[in-house]
Amino acid sequence: MTAHPGKLKDTMQGIPVSPGIIIGKAHLVDRSRVKILYQYLIDEKQVSGEVERFENALRATEEQLETLKNKMPEHVKEHSFILDSHLMILQDSMLRDSTIRRIEEEKINAEWALKKSFHEIRKIFAQIDDEYISNRIQDVESVSERILRNLSGKAQESLAEIHERVIIVAHDLSPADTTELNISKVMGFITDVGGQTSHTAIMAQALEIPAVVGLESASARISDGDLLIVDGSTGEVVINPDDAEIIRYQEKQLQHEKYKSTIARICHLPAQTPDGYRIAIKANIEFLEEVAAVRDHGAEGIGLYRTEFLYLRSKGLPTEEELFKDYREVAEIMAPEPVTIRTLDIGGDKFASHIEIANEMNPAMGLRAIRLCLKEPNLFRTQLRAILRASTFGRVQLMFPMISGIQEVLEVKEILDTVKKELDSEGIIYDENMPVGIMIEIPSAVTIADLLTKHVDFFSIGTNDLIQYALAIDRVNEHVAFMYQPFHPAILRMIQQVVREGRKAGIKISLCGEMAGDPLCIPILLGLGLDELSMNARSIPLVKNIVRAIPLQQAQQDFERVIHLSTAKEVRDYLLTRMKKMIPELGEKGFFPA
Ligand code: PEP
Ligand code: MG
Repeated sequence: MTAHPGKLKDTMQGIPVSPGIIIGKAHLVDRSRVKILYQYLIDEKQVSGEVERFENALRATEEQLETLKNKMPEHVKEHSFILDSHLMILQDSMLRDSTIRRIEEEKINAEWALKKSFHEIRKIFAQIDDEYISNRIQDVESVSERILRNLSGKAQESLAEIHERVIIVAHDLSPADTTELNISKVMGFITDVGGQTSHTAIMAQALEIPAVVGLESASARISDGDLLIVDGSTGEVVINPDDAEIIRYQEKQLQHEKYKSTIARICHLPAQTPDGYRIAIKANIEFLEEVAAVRDHGAEGIGLYRTEFLYLRSKGLPTEEELFKDYREVAEIMAPEPVTIRTLDIGGDKFASHIEIANEMNPAMGLRAIRLCLKEPNLFRTQLRAILRASTFGRVQLMFPMISGIQEVLEVKEILDTVKKELDSEGIIYDENMPVGIMIEIPSAVTIADLLTKHVDFFSIGTNDLIQYALAIDRVNEHVAFMYQPFHPAILRMIQQVVREGRKAGIKISLCGEMAGDPLCIPILLGLGLDELSMNARSIPLVKNIVRAIPLQQAQQDFERVIHLSTAKEVRDYLLTRMKKMIPELGEKGFFPA
């Protein structure tokens, strides 16, 4: 790898979301909307030709989708439902027939007719009082865009067809895009938009590809073929680096990889401080297929199973049987280690990079998670039945997201009791002692943590949302990403309050937001006295290694120091200095700024 003579060197700083250093060529992916340049009337004689042009575009779209589906790499095959649903939309009369009718009756060109049909469908979808279904407009839009590209002769590039070792540069990537990524070819990706906890970021971690998001103008500043260095641990992106820089990063990459393989070899050792304090280290998963990696990385259970993806992957809603099979398998593979299954947390801003909640002004505060489940009791009951049935196949724990007050807990527990009675009457067994917990991720829940302890067996602190709601920072908005501060004194105090109340009541306290996997956070999370940390599996070896290096007493002293500091910057600087002193090789090997 050598520098490009004559090309201008540039550096950018983004949000690191999936670690690893990569050096390679930029491959720009244009995901911008197709602009319709021509809207024109046609005469009677042109109608049949225009309909034929539209039908050709439909056929081309169908072929592209089928090819994409067939070429999907094995490990992401489970996401082919996205392409199936696109094929169904393509064949649906709402889009196809109404566009042809418009060409024939209104005598307008195919692009214009298709746009009009799409807008009509969007209006209909907006009126549907079902968040899941109304959100599907996103898929209709994506299919329409693909047809438009074929009409204009400007086909959308498929990421699955990239056969060079490149770094993807895009304004944004959707989950459909991430499922298409040919991981053996794509080295990593960088995007203009997104934040640390956006869904694209979480997918990158799950797929173990280095990524930096929130760069704001990467797709404008980088040209196809530019040489890039991307540091997924620090968020640095160097465009057209000189030879000295390449050598420096290659060395860093080597050190990083060497250190990773060293700690991977000892990842099954317990996370115990030198003075004997043991903290449980568990994994967050998005889908069943990750369980093997979870075991390989030394997890002592699954602290958060985000169950949304099963709902997104099905054409319709998944059946109780489908859910049961999936949960049972996770429970069985992980047994005797525990698995915490979180009920559906769909909606809100979590999927904002690919699912627009068209009919909500403020989706993060809208009908999300438990709110949606309480509004759709049938949907909720089906999932609860499946979880209860799976509970006898391992050690299952049940967790409810987005709890804001006692009333919600009482309501969900009442529904849970009804479901249990239903199963009793059908003679279906379940674990009667299955622990039931809640996510603490809304500031109101922190404030009444003492009251909540009386109703549940455990808390899991969801700092991704807690930070979002406490600091009023949209977690996927790159423009305010600099204010998304885990070390903000308000956040530290909130976590402290939850732990204190949990301890008093004698219930278990876990933390499962991205903070749990951040090396710099470990001393304070240890010092706080949490029972469990749950994180993306890849972070586990490093986190365990840090735990094994820091005596609890020291972590407690560090926590006492930082809790009295007044800004996030002061806390961060203090922790950086401490960590560099305690475990110097971490900075040197690129796990945080050296
Ligand atoms: C959180 O909010 O911290 C969390 C773990 O849940 P999610 O990221 O799925 O919202
Ligand atoms: Mg959350």
